[in-house]
Amino acid sequence: MAEAATNASLFERACAVTPGGVSSPVRAFRSVGGAPYFVARGEGPWVWDVEGRRYLDLVQSYGPAIHGHAHPRIVEAVRAAALDGSSFGAPTEREVLLAEEITGRVPGCDQVRLVSSGTEACMSAVRVARGATGRDRVVLFEGCYHGHSDGLLAGGGSGVATLGLPSSAGVPAGAVADTLVVPYNAVPAIGDDVACVIVEPVAANMGLVAPAPEFLPGLRDACDAAGALLVFDEVITGFRLARGGASAFYGVTPDLWCFGKVIGGGLPLAAFGGRRELMEQLAPLGPVYQAGTLSGNPLATAAGLAALEMLDDAAYDELAGRVARLGAGLTSAFAAAGVTAQVPVVGTLVGVFFVAEPVTDYAGARASADTGSYPPFMHGLLDAGVALPPGAYEILFPGLAHRDAEIDSVVEAVGEVAARMAAG
Ligand SMILES: *Cc1c(COP(=O)(O)O)cnc(C)c1O
Repeated sequence: MAEAATNASLFERACAVTPGGVSSPVRAFRSVGGAPYFVARGEGPWVWDVEGRRYLDLVQSYGPAIHGHAHPRIVEAVRAAALDGSSFGAPTEREVLLAEEITGRVPGCDQVRLVSSGTEACMSAVRVARGATGRDRVVLFEGCYHGHSDGLLAGGGSGVATLGLPSSAGVPAGAVADTLVVPYNAVPAIGDDVACVIVEPVAANMGLVAPAPEFLPGLRDACDAAGALLVFDEVITGFRLARGGASAFYGVTPDLWCFGKVIGGGLPLAAFGGRRELMEQLAPLGPVYQAGTLSGNPLATAAGLAALEMLDDAAYDELAGRVARLGAGLTSAFAAAGVTAQVPVVGTLVGVFFVAEPVTDYAGARASADTGSYPPFMHGLLDAGVALPPGAYEILFPGLAHRDAEIDSVVEAVGEVAARMAAG
């Protein structure tokens, strides 16, 4: 090795050998300008780039790192698991323990199947819904994100929204012919051809949009009336929002759930689950096929178990307290600087919009992104040593490693950046 790698030199090499220089488009800085920093390591709330610069990290892997980076208990669990072998193609005890842990948290979710990504979880939950109902149509909500499978990419939030794509090239019309996209926070008419309605119970891929009080109960009733299944995509809310996820938080029980992010403790792991008779539609018991070479991976289940074991009610109270502190701090920092902003908080979840009124749907989220305020905000904070996701449609991910001191230094940095933004 001649010279130490820099962010710029790595990005140049990355762009030569991988499209856009990134393994996932949300990591690119396309929508905010500039080039990504390359992370060398992380610890707790911090990451260091390859040039030795430290950032207070509010990206946190887009959710999985709820305990902060390299938490000693998770590191030890993965190390111990690796020593015993990393994948077998036969069942292991930790898969049972993790499935017991998840089903024990979520009333109504009798069984889960473990997979390796949220995309797989959502795609498979929809397949179960279609198989169980014998219907084809799927209803989803504008600005929600359910992974990048063909049929669920229509009207998607997160990365597709950030890149300004209506959907994706390469998705055949036939693949989305049975996908109906409707506005968030309005209960749609549900026909008797609908297999399922899939929803983020708290939308967190168009910034943070809380469900209106009547929205989730209304979906439950409308699905029941139409004989359709309700699927909660809890890939973000599942075990970030509350011990039992959003279904427990709101007291609305779907038929199927999708989990991911937090449940893998930072390793590739996700799950979908539901009532026993629905899940027994899956192979080997039933006619709905779904499989995975690395599903229930020993390292991932070890990390996920370690992460979930530390997430008791007290942990959620603690995190909600930190997030409330951050939300209140940001609201006053923006107000003091004279920057028009909304800082929605739902329990442990927090986002930022640059509009005057609370955002209730994708149109509102888009209006915020269209102000163009996010790129200077994000870059101002990055210069101040605080890392936010490089896209206006993402939420912030403070976790249990962000103590009050870190929260307060974020608020202080936001105050300074907001003052500069207001000064133009
Ligand atoms: C991240 C996310 C997914 C996709 O998960 P991957 O692991 O990235 O495939 C699906 N649904 C929601 C709500 C998500 O936030």
